[in-house]
Amino acid sequence: MSELALFGGEKAVKTQNPDMIKWPIYTSEEEEAVLDVLRKASMSGLDVTRQFEREFAEWMGMEYALAFNNGTASLLGAMYGVGVRKGDEIICPSITYWASCTQAMSLGATVVFANIDKKTLCIDPDDIERKITKKTKAIMVVHYLSHPADMDRIMEIAAKYNVKVIEDVSHAQGGMYKGKKLGTFGDVAAMSLMTGKSFAIGEGGMLVTNNREIYEHAIATGTYERFNDSEITCEDLRPFTGLPLIGNKHRMHQMSSAVGRVQLKYYDERCAEIRKAMNYFWDLLDGVPGLRAHRVDETTGSTMAGFYAAHGIYVAEELGGLSITRFCEAVRAEGVDCCYPGCNAALHTHALFQIADVYGDGKPIRIANSDEDIRKYDDNLASAEEIGAMIYWIPWLKKFIPSEIEEYAIPVYYMNAVKKAYETGEKVEIEYLK
Ligand SMILES: *Cc1c(COP(=O)(O)O)cnc(C)c1O
Repeated sequence: MSELALFGGEKAVKTQNPDMIKWPIYTSEEEEAVLDVLRKASMSGLDVTRQFEREFAEWMGMEYALAFNNGTASLLGAMYGVGVRKGDEIICPSITYWASCTQAMSLGATVVFANIDKKTLCIDPDDIERKITKKTKAIMVVHYLSHPADMDRIMEIAAKYNVKVIEDVSHAQGGMYKGKKLGTFGDVAAMSLMTGKSFAIGEGGMLVTNNREIYEHAIATGTYERFNDSEITCEDLRPFTGLPLIGNKHRMHQMSSAVGRVQLKYYDERCAEIRKAMNYFWDLLDGVPGLRAHRVDETTGSTMAGFYAAHGIYVAEELGGLSITRFCEAVRAEGVDCCYPGCNAALHTHALFQIADVYGDGKPIRIANSDEDIRKYDDNLASAEEIGAMIYWIPWLKKFIPSEIEEYAIPVYYMNAVKKAYETGEKVEIEYLK
């Protein structure tokens, strides 16, 4: 075996093709669309946004789509839309981006954290059931790192206890679960469309639902110019049209909606190529000790959407306890710059969810509106905390160019990484290294 790059050997990734890694993908068509908005000075208008909404709803196969200035705002709209109010509980996985749940506290709701499944990295249905109480209003389901959550079980639990389901599709736009599009299972779905995400339009968010009442209540949270008598039919809202109910303004910037309209035309095609590249990457590494793909079996009709924030699962025991930190260090040296351990840190451990008194309640915001100290139900979230030592970033490959993907994936350099660690004293006892 050749010397590890970490110790001066040749790098495994020799062809540093910028198109393989570059994000977002766009052409002069997006540039023209943005310039058109600028030239018409319609940055703050609604016409392009409404077109984008119609096209997005059609693509999702949903009745209503509502655009927001970001994903955070769209998720707040979804929460208010399904009826999350003061004293209600919302169950959210502890491992996700903060905007899956933090806004709920501004509605006076209580965030209850659930564990994640170690294989899907999405919310664990058994823990949802354990944490449901009479106050549970909604379950926030995140299709985390592009992996579809276990929707069969989740919808079954939601029906059994009569709670709402919100899907946060920020990582998995266009993805499928058993042949059905993610974001079409729950009462409502909302998602980020910011530049780093799989569906990248700049800053933006989108809510989709088939429920008129949810749609109108989401409108009431921050799109005041359409919160008017011609659009609002709900009796509880009609007396208040004209002003946003919770004092926010969340309109999408039309340069973003213009980019979104163009992105939508090519989105499925681009995701299909990314999936082809990423699945090829994982096929090459199939069976390598210590490495497990974080992906679905596509023959079941499920997909990994656009493989946003692609990760691998690391099994240190199969590599003689070699630390993930050391492993990633060796892989980075081979030219895979993104390879670091971890993902989002477990939310329940953050001081905001433990001690911060944000609104002057005289007690922490997380429990300001709950009768008992729900922080005690964080007791079983240790595996959520361990996740940082279990998963690592892999390259997000945008092009299906087998020879280049092989440079990123050839098992040899993973083995080399292990071999070198073995030589430098960390105990690794694996048959193929002897
Ligand atoms: C990015 C993200 C959001 C928030 O979206 P913004 O557009 O950044 O406001 C919400 N949920 C998840 C899971 C995200 O990754």
